[in-house]
Amino acid sequence: VSVVNKIAAGEIVIAPVNALKEMMENSIDAKATMVDILVKDGGIKLLQITDNGCGIDKDDLPILCERFTTSKLEVFEDLSKIETFGFRGEALASISHIARVTVTTKTEKDQCAWKASFSEGKILGQPKPVAGKTGTIITVEDLFYNIPSRLKALRSPGEEFNKILDVIGRYSINNNNVGFSCKKFGDSKVALMIKADLSTKDRVRIVFGANVSTNLMELNIDITDDVQRNGLLSASGFVTNLDFTNKKPIPPAFFINGRLVSCDPMRRSFYQIYSNFLPKGNKPFIYFSLTIKPQNVDVNIHPTKREVRFLNEEEIIDRLAILLQDKLASIDT
Ligand code: ADP
Ligand code: MG
Repeated sequence: VSVVNKIAAGEIVIAPVNALKEMMENSIDAKATMVDILVKDGGIKLLQITDNGCGIDKDDLPILCERFTTSKLEVFEDLSKIETFGFRGEALASISHIARVTVTTKTEKDQCAWKASFSEGKILGQPKPVAGKTGTIITVEDLFYNIPSRLKALRSPGEEFNKILDVIGRYSINNNNVGFSCKKFGDSKVALMIKADLSTKDRVRIVFGANVSTNLMELNIDITDDVQRNGLLSASGFVTNLDFTNKKPIPPAFFINGRLVSCDPMRRSFYQIYSNFLPKGNKPFIYFSLTIKPQNVDVNIHPTKREVRFLNEEEIIDRLAILLQDKLASIDT
């Protein structure tokens, strides 16, 4: 069983950035307003996430890293969660099968924080009382210590670190009221700092540079009846306008129900619209955040949950493409 778990986990987490993404989503889910990330050796030696969210109940700690079970469902899962990030309930379980996980957490009602370590889905011993503030610190150490082939397949620590920075930056753009910081272990200065009260535009400037942020346009779609019938509940975005001259392409940032996803049909459709306006090969910045009826979204087609599928995909993408088209056409003239 342990080997099967390990292999399954290695498919959900293929690089440190995948583990980080899951943990950031948990922090955002826990209503954190500040998320601080500490990274050693590109996240392989250490990945630590500190948040000021609601914390985890001490009594829930023993099953925190269990794979999906009825008890876990009863304790942790409620409908609102299923609606936010798609449901699997096994991120921490997976991580605990391929790394050493330590959780320190305190809820508002607890007198002190509780600390516990996990391995292969199980808690090691009992939670210990420690000093701490309300919120959660999750430490992931020695990722892939038991999967040498995964370890070998990783990029250099520097490249893994850049992937981590990129994903934190993208989440910061999609979570306007949450602050983020990222630091390399041992460095005195932070690699990324996004204060909680910064605007989206300021976040884009910090993450992708002034060249992108000064050319930013906001797009908002009116949710009319026909749009709603397709399951689209809200859509907003920021894209660069026609003056955009960035030479380095930035992959689009698509969020669906709060989750950073890839959506090839959407990417292709938007680039197609842009190609009528921009010189060939000039890749704009595109950020779109959609809320789609949760039951219409399938985030599980790929283990890493990146490529997303949703009902009425074509209609919804067409509608968004028209929005983009109209906006670009209005500037052109
Ligand atoms: P899922 O998020 O799909 O439920 P996870 O393994 O990612 O599965 O997390 C399991 C549970 O642990 C979450 O549902 C949540 O209740 C709790 N949890 C994890 N991380 C945090 C956190 N940073 N703050 C508060 N609760 C957390
Ligand atoms: Mg989760």
